Amino acid sequence: MAKPFSTSNNASDIARLADRCVQCGLCLPHCPTYQLDRSEAESPRGRIAYMKALAIGQIMASDVGDRHLDHCLGCRRCESVCPASVEYDDLLALAREQQYLRKPPPYKFKLLAGVLAKPGLVGIAGVLGRASGQLPKLPNSGFRNESRPGDQTGKVAIFIGCIANAYEANTRLNLQKILNAQGFSVLPANGQTCCGTAATSLGDGRTAGALAEKNRIAFDNGITVLSLATGCHEQLSRSLQNQNTVIDALNFVSRRSGLLKFKAANKKIALHIPCSQSTVVKSDQALRQLLAMIPGLEIQELPDRGCCGAAGLHMLAEPDRANRLRTPLIEKIHGTDVSELLSSNIGCRLHIANGLKIPVRHPIDFLAEHLA
Ligand code: SF4
Ligand code: SF4
Repeated sequence: MAKPFSTSNNASDIARLADRCVQCGLCLPHCPTYQLDRSEAESPRGRIAYMKALAIGQIMASDVGDRHLDHCLGCRRCESVCPASVEYDDLLALAREQQYLRKPPPYKFKLLAGVLAKPGLVGIAGVLGRASGQLPKLPNSGFRNESRPGDQTGKVAIFIGCIANAYEANTRLNLQKILNAQGFSVLPANGQTCCGTAATSLGDGRTAGALAEKNRIAFDNGITVLSLATGCHEQLSRSLQNQNTVIDALNFVSRRSGLLKFKAANKKIALHIPCSQSTVVKSDQALRQLLAMIPGLEIQELPDRGCCGAAGLHMLAEPDRANRLRTPLIEKIHGTDVSELLSSNIGCRLHIANGLKIPVRHPIDFLAEHLA
């Protein structure tokens, strides 16, 4: 279950959480940054040791140590295999809050996080990003919320987010089409904003908390909220805890898959499963089951490399490392005749699309296109 935000910067919390680590090293082979550098300092165990040593005053913070902390992708592969149940995600959030206080991130990333927190500015930034070739083109869009507030039986809301506001407009329309085929309609939820993942990854717990509060107000009618971006899901679940049920759109749709019929697709596609989808949201099985309902579809699932390198702002903060993590995936696709790639997280799609010439879409777009 999602846990509420921690607003504490208390070093004793870090020490207590870090104490759970028995230093067995079982997480090391699963950590993408350890795989990349083969260095203890780039492993979960090394980062936990650094966080704890700082928290108990054993060492002073150093640029080198902080840099290894910055390299963490927050993919939580370590947490998912840890036999001692180390709550690495909470530990990382607390350590980054402390890091933010002693050494604020570069101004450009604070600025970017500030832009993401204001959906209107995201649109302008998107235009600039596309004009400079840093961001892929937008898909066609025509999303409208056609339902009106009222009785909420058979009604859901869709979380829009920040950069997805423009990039997933078409996907939201397609999700609405699938939901309509299952007897659901979509209620508008005005006033919603960024989930706060970018702010949290910078260690800016105050901004993340303010965004959470704004989203709580936007969804204060208690409606079920569907998330489309697996990277936003956990943070949104925390924000709306005890108020709304937050469900990944693919999990929600698959529960009523018997109401859907698909036409044949005699083609071959590639499928990318984001780390946030397999380790946190756990909607990868639902996705595979839905795609298996499309007759004639051949799916090549990309190998699990831990993380594609997107990881929130990591692809912007550490482009070389992000590209090194992405390269094996790109090479795997280049050697095939797949016509497109599907991925359920917007950050991964933007990052991977920048290295490919084939279309990269959300699976919901593909499913809606093949509705019979
Ligand atoms: S698997 Fe868990 S206990 Fe073992 S080193 Fe990794 S974090 Fe520590
Ligand atoms: S969250 Fe991912 S990158 Fe960070 S230490 Fe754990 S496995 Fe490694």
